[in-house]
Amino acid sequence: MASAQQYDLLITGGKIVTMDAKRRVIDNGAIAISSNRIQEIFSAGELPSNYKARKTINADGKVIIPGLINAHSHIAMTLFRGFVEDLVLYKWLKRVWQYELSALNENNVRAGSKLAFAEMIRSGVTCVHDMYWHCMATIDLAEEIGFRLISGPSITGIGEPDFDEMINTARCVLEKIKNYRYVHPVIQAHSTYTTTPEMMHKVFEFKQEYNIPFTTHASENQAEVDDVCERYGKTPIELLQSYNLLDSGTILAHCVKLQNDEITLLSESSTNVVHCPESNLKLGSGIARIAELFEAGVNICIGTDGPASNNNLDLLGEIRTAALLQKGFYENPEVLTTMQAMEMATINGAKAYGLDKKLGSLEPGKRADIVIIDFDKSHLTPCHDVYAHLIYSVNQADVDTVLIDGKILMDDGELTTLDEETIKAEVRVIGEQFK
Ligand SMILES: [Zn+2]
Repeated sequence: MASAQQYDLLITGGKIVTMDAKRRVIDNGAIAISSNRIQEIFSAGELPSNYKARKTINADGKVIIPGLINAHSHIAMTLFRGFVEDLVLYKWLKRVWQYELSALNENNVRAGSKLAFAEMIRSGVTCVHDMYWHCMATIDLAEEIGFRLISGPSITGIGEPDFDEMINTARCVLEKIKNYRYVHPVIQAHSTYTTTPEMMHKVFEFKQEYNIPFTTHASENQAEVDDVCERYGKTPIELLQSYNLLDSGTILAHCVKLQNDEITLLSESSTNVVHCPESNLKLGSGIARIAELFEAGVNICIGTDGPASNNNLDLLGEIRTAALLQKGFYENPEVLTTMQAMEMATINGAKAYGLDKKLGSLEPGKRADIVIIDFDKSHLTPCHDVYAHLIYSVNQADVDTVLIDGKILMDDGELTTLDEETIKAEVRVIGEQFK
């Protein structure tokens, strides 16, 4: 007789939305986890009777999905939530930068990030991209609490930094985080309008040397496109192309104002796009042509952007906005299907950052980043179509349990590693200083 299979954790029952290549949905199956990985996914009745598990989670009446991936954010901007309202992008940025440059330090960025991690766990996010000041504060915190983070140094002319010092610091950060467990390194530039060609050439070199993805903001609104065209005679997309920065290892946030030939260019170069609909709406930037980008074969993921221009980190809400907005914009309910919306928040985000072998779906061998959602709710009964409920009816209060790398960070609605009362108290004190 075969010896008993030993697992660290077993999730039994419920409905497993795998998001694997076949987009399988498994009823009453089981997910076996050991160390930080998914070992097996069993269909109903397949679980061997002689298994042993250190812990078992009963997911009856629940839906199990891959951890959501927020592909573009500035998470410590929780500190500035509701701080600057009703301004267009350039004016909004000017005001935010004024405070960021004078008030931020490693300590308050760490506090703002901790608050953001708590908020994201509650909304089923297990991996976030972050571009922000004092990036090591957030990176070290993510490593400490075990939250999956895509981050790295940001190259920018904001605040007129010393060029050599900025590049040296960037190299130090990239060297330091090479072997971090929870942090996936990227090289970042704020945008084409806040950098010089010299800076972007350095970004290209870092991207090549460290073989890491590159991400930046691009074509967020018409004023940005006009500004870059006036300075360089090229649109932001054309300028990035001239820097050799359009390829499958590049992720562009926003892409609201694109010409038809730029859509073709992004498609042909396999460049990834992060859609941030709520931030684009709030800053009056416009509505990205996501349905046409999908049609052209561009890999599109989704992000909340920073919580000062959203004003939350709720990716479930963001997906709903994205789907509704595209249908209204094109006056066509057939665009941005529930499946496409779900892909944007899971596997497409993983693919954009070159992490689709590790993240983005529930499959044996992948990291155990798993979210369990309670479907035993009035607003989720009956369930004819699990994808429809996930996109249009589930809200973050329905998120029940969250695992990152096999570790339970929220258990039956309770955060297991973060003390929200302490975090809120700390952030309140910091908030007082910003008045
Ligand atoms: Zn942004």
